[in-house]
Amino acid sequence: MTEAVLRIEKLQKNFGALKATDDVTLDLKPGEIHALIGPNGAGKSTLIAQISGGLSPDSGNIYLGQENVTGLSIAARAKRGLGRCFQISSLAMPLSVRRNVMMASQAVTGTSFSFWKQTDNDQKLLEAAEKVLARVGLEPRADVPVAELSHGERRQVEVACALALKPKVLLLDEPMAGMGAGGSERLTGFLEELKLEVPILLVEHDMDAVFRLADRISVLVYGQIIAQGSADMIRQDPLVREAYLGT
Ligand code: ADP
Ligand code: MG
Repeated sequence: MTEAVLRIEKLQKNFGALKATDDVTLDLKPGEIHALIGPNGAGKSTLIAQISGGLSPDSGNIYLGQENVTGLSIAARAKRGLGRCFQISSLAMPLSVRRNVMMASQAVTGTSFSFWKQTDNDQKLLEAAEKVLARVGLEPRADVPVAELSHGERRQVEVACALALKPKVLLLDEPMAGMGAGGSERLTGFLEELKLEVPILLVEHDMDAVFRLADRISVLVYGQIIAQGSADMIRQDPLVREAYLGT
């Protein structure tokens, strides 16, 4: 059996009486996209926050490779290769796309970076940023301030920032949200390629994208995983159709 890159075991997070994630177990293997689907309020974002380190679970464990990272900070997890999409709200609006990506890669390399003067480090960060921008197709927009981008382009910048950290695992929470059809289509194509390099845990509401991309799907309802399996299995599961797909 292939070794999981990311494994979470029995994650429990309560907000008062609400069980936001209730005994959630899942893993992510090399080369795959594992999609996490479920209705609004199911606990998807709460789960992602526990994996990335923004929220501490009440109980359960998170492993990156062999290492138990449950007690580690967001930064320590990022250094170990846990990549997550930056929120649009964390992008620096007046700065260019390129500068935003440079700042993101600086966060993990620990390289110092100044807005005011050029250094050798800037050159390294610049080269890394150019590579990432080319990959996500943002090269022509590199000099544009983030404030002037469309919503879809900002989401692409988020993915670029996550990739700048050279992650071993990528967590994406609704990357297609608010994107037009063209943007979703481009991002889907990109994620299809990217997963071969970086396995992805994908939270997404766009079911066309999920069924096209996911190798495996976990369905979360009221904090619990009610079904887990291949995309075909999930599509045909009567419990899932009733609880989530509404058919
Ligand atoms: P999803 O991402 O699947 O839509 P969330 O993980 O955002 O769901 O939320 C799961 C449940 O936990 C919801 O009922 C939400 O209201 C609740 N919740 C999320 N964050 C908090 C919080 N910080 N404090 C209290 N309740 C929360
Ligand atoms: Mg959410």
